[in-house]
Amino acid sequence: MNVIYCRLSSDRTGARVGVDTQEKNLRRLAAKDGLSIDEVIADDDLSAYRPGRKDRPGYLRLLSLLKAGKVKHLLVVHPDRLHRDPAELESFLPLAPRLRVHTTMAAPVYDLATSWGKHALRAATNDANLETAHKGDRVGDARERQAEEGVFGGGGRRPYGYGVEVMERRTWDREAGEYRMLPVAVPYLDMARSRPDEAALIQSWARQLLSGVSMCQIVADLNRRGVPTSTGNGRWTARTVQQIITNPRISGHSTRHGEIVKAGAYDAILTEEQRLALNDRFTDPAHRCSPPGSVPRWLGSGIYRCGICDDGDTTKVRRCNGRPVYHHGGHCVRSAAEVDGFVTSVLVARMARADIAEFLTPDRPGVDTASLRDEKLTLLARRDALGVAFAKGEITSTRQLAAGTGYIDARITAIDAELAATAAVSPLDGVADSGDVAAVGKAWSAAPLGQQREILRLLATVTLTAPPQGRYGVFEPLEAVIIEWRDGGDSDA
Ligand SMILES: [Zn+2]
Repeated sequence: MNVIYCRLSSDRTGARVGVDTQEKNLRRLAAKDGLSIDEVIADDDLSAYRPGRKDRPGYLRLLSLLKAGKVKHLLVVHPDRLHRDPAELESFLPLAPRLRVHTTMAAPVYDLATSWGKHALRAATNDANLETAHKGDRVGDARERQAEEGVFGGGGRRPYGYGVEVMERRTWDREAGEYRMLPVAVPYLDMARSRPDEAALIQSWARQLLSGVSMCQIVADLNRRGVPTSTGNGRWTARTVQQIITNPRISGHSTRHGEIVKAGAYDAILTEEQRLALNDRFTDPAHRCSPPGSVPRWLGSGIYRCGICDDGDTTKVRRCNGRPVYHHGGHCVRSAAEVDGFVTSVLVARMARADIAEFLTPDRPGVDTASLRDEKLTLLARRDALGVAFAKGEITSTRQLAAGTGYIDARITAIDAELAATAAVSPLDGVADSGDVAAVGKAWSAAPLGQQREILRLLATVTLTAPPQGRYGVFEPLEAVIIEWRDGGDSDA
């Protein structure tokens, strides 16, 4: 008899090659080779390489058919569907002395009656085993455990922000004695769908970065709060965050070799405008992250000015007699907690005033993002068409081609810049627009320090004066802190 054997697999891109697809391809192969199929056997486990694992009922059925000497031709898409463990193959070979194994790969039929056939099958299994071992080196037992717990369904590392557990998969209905597809409750992660908690976090990074908060501030905040990474352990780095927010996937595109091949392939967590704006930010070397130790932990460190020097130099925080103080070269000593508390209350009161509206992100009625995006798609298609025309010989001069693509590239760059500009946000968004003093105060407390510092920079210039002789340590806010509003209004609280 002739048998098709299918086993569910996930390839390295995480795409799942279902047993139904395998069967379809193998039936086509059988037709080509002139074989009639007597039985289709399928296993639904995720990996053939599980030492000691017994739950491959289909494989056991195949072995019993082989033991009975019934199978003449076996069809699998690849030898790795049968075995990844060479030891398993060695116990399989004696059961199949005359078997012919057909695959959809470019390789010829493995005729196990010949030593060449056995050798070739061993080589293919060894390759599959090596690949498994390499993968295992990297992700190790954690992946096995995750797969067992059903939190991981594909290959590779789960992209941060993505992977929603779904509870449905199709399998064979063996009870009914026919090969009907039935939905069964097997959890696996759908990597095209975004996770709300992580998506919200990614959106907050984008808002903060686009409103001027530094990357190191964001990373320090994540590590301080102990936010888990996609692997659940390890620390956040600027590189990780940058890779996440500038990956085309984050605005829904799927890519191959760095080129976008399909828009809308995934849930978009950020808009295309936001992603382009963030891309711009990170190609600008001025935005490189400073060393981890220098990440500010106080509202005004590096922002409040020294009132003695009065030359624009700013103060930093240092411990003095056990408490943190703002200082500048040994003078300007003011309690950091007291100054920050006072400045905060003044800023909150300022933000609760109605005229704060002029600082909020203005609407951009002049920019039609939808038509810009359409225009960009049209241009991309035209650029492709030019390339095809050149290849076909319809355009013969390379200068003609370069002129055409040059114009298109310039216009695309301009559109990207316009779109990126629409993504700009004010650090006040989400805080200053909250309502009365109480609501603004609450939103301020919930905002990350990086955003608070950008609000401070945007709204005011704060200068610290020296404590008067003999009254060291006494904090009189109106003497100690001079606040000048940036909108030209004259007030020091
Ligand atoms: Zn000074």
